[in-house]
Amino acid sequence: MVPNDDQRALQEMARRFSRERLLPDYQKREKIGLMDRELIKEMGQLGLLGVDLPERLGGLGVDSVTSGLIIEELAYGDFSISAVPMAISLLAGIVVKSARSEVVDEWVPRATRGECILGLCLTEPRGGSDVANLQVRARRDGDDYVLNGEKTSITFANCADAFVVFARTGRPEEGARGVTAFLVPAATPGIRCTRFDDVGAAIIERGSVFFDDVRIPARYRLGDEGKGFTQVMVGFDYSRALIVLQCVGAAQASLDEAWAYTKDREAFGRPIAQFQNVTSPLVEGETQIAAIRQLCYHTLALRDSGLPHTAEAAMVKWMGPKTAYDVIHHCLLTFGHYGFTKETAHQQRMRDVMGQEIGDGTAGIMKLIVARERVGRASVQCHAQG
Ligand SMILES: Cc1cc2nc3c(=O)[nH]c(=O)nc-3n(C[C@H](O)[C@H](O)[C@H](O)COP(=O)(O)OP(=O)(O)OC[C@H]3O[C@@H](n4cnc5c(N)ncnc54)[C@H](O)[C@@H]3O)c2cc1C
Repeated sequence: MVPNDDQRALQEMARRFSRERLLPDYQKREKIGLMDRELIKEMGQLGLLGVDLPERLGGLGVDSVTSGLIIEELAYGDFSISAVPMAISLLAGIVVKSARSEVVDEWVPRATRGECILGLCLTEPRGGSDVANLQVRARRDGDDYVLNGEKTSITFANCADAFVVFARTGRPEEGARGVTAFLVPAATPGIRCTRFDDVGAAIIERGSVFFDDVRIPARYRLGDEGKGFTQVMVGFDYSRALIVLQCVGAAQASLDEAWAYTKDREAFGRPIAQFQNVTSPLVEGETQIAAIRQLCYHTLALRDSGLPHTAEAAMVKWMGPKTAYDVIHHCLLTFGHYGFTKETAHQQRMRDVMGQEIGDGTAGIMKLIVARERVGRASVQCHAQG
């Protein structure tokens, strides 16, 4: 994939913002452990949020490939900050497609301006892979729905302004067909959040979201009753490619830093760049990341052309985060003992990308999806995420 002139201009803007505003304080933000709302607003002012959404809602009306280019650049500077535009593209995209127009007008422009963070509430304590069997209930009561239950492992649990929540409106035996999606403002009475002490990606403030008789107007339902599952699964084909581009951006940052170090650091009287055992793992990493990047953009290009891309999204999702983790690890080793200190950012990037070996569906589940796409649903039973 070679970006065209328009895509290159946006990519360049994102690159400049990422390197000047995000990268310098990437490690400082982890210590603070909170999402930096001012940075999100700056991204909104620059037009970097929800670029694939319609212009009348504050987007740029561009394709998913362009969205990927921007998210990759932002992840170079800060993996976790780039999760915000990723979530907006996924979730505001679902809202635009499925919500009533007044709900779209109320929430989506706020998201593209950087004034509203959106979270996805799908996973439940009893398991995230078998997501069709979710148990959080939404009971119709006059003009409202009343939500009860717990969602867990929710990115932005403690900083989101609204959640896209998947809840059961039908009977448990209906499985995926009994699931409906809702937009739920985070300030609605009856919502309580707890926070996890995570290994990485501290600023996404992941945690559980509890719904205790949470009453929301029926107009906040997204699409028809029972259609929620299809909505999120189509969305996952998109978000998986975007998430892997986040991993690609982070790995590229570590590779660039490692190459620079090999030119400066000397051993045995010469720069370590002259030792093939030093450069070979970096060359392999560059190659693997370049290949994964291309599969991501191929997946997005298929989406932009209206062609099926479920298998490609799952392929790149099982391979990408793990490869990025391994590549960053090699970069860390290139720095010798310095790499093992917190002076370099490699250890933080490793911990950050590791979460995406699990988030949005594990490698095991991704492989089930690819197999199902090849041999058919009847041969591979899998209602799991994807
Ligand atoms: C950083 C991060 C961010 C996340 N953000 C969100 C979010 O914003 N919203 C949200 O709803 N969820 C989120 N999640 C949750 C994530 O989607 C789930 O953790 C994931 O789907 C797996 O579910 P589980 O953790 O319950 O594992 P389980 O489903 O309990 O699975 C446990 C293990 O068994 C394996 N396994 C299970 N079933 C099968 C099978 N049929 N075949 C092969 N292997 C199988 C899995 O691969 C896994 O290794 C996030 C998770 C992380 C780590």
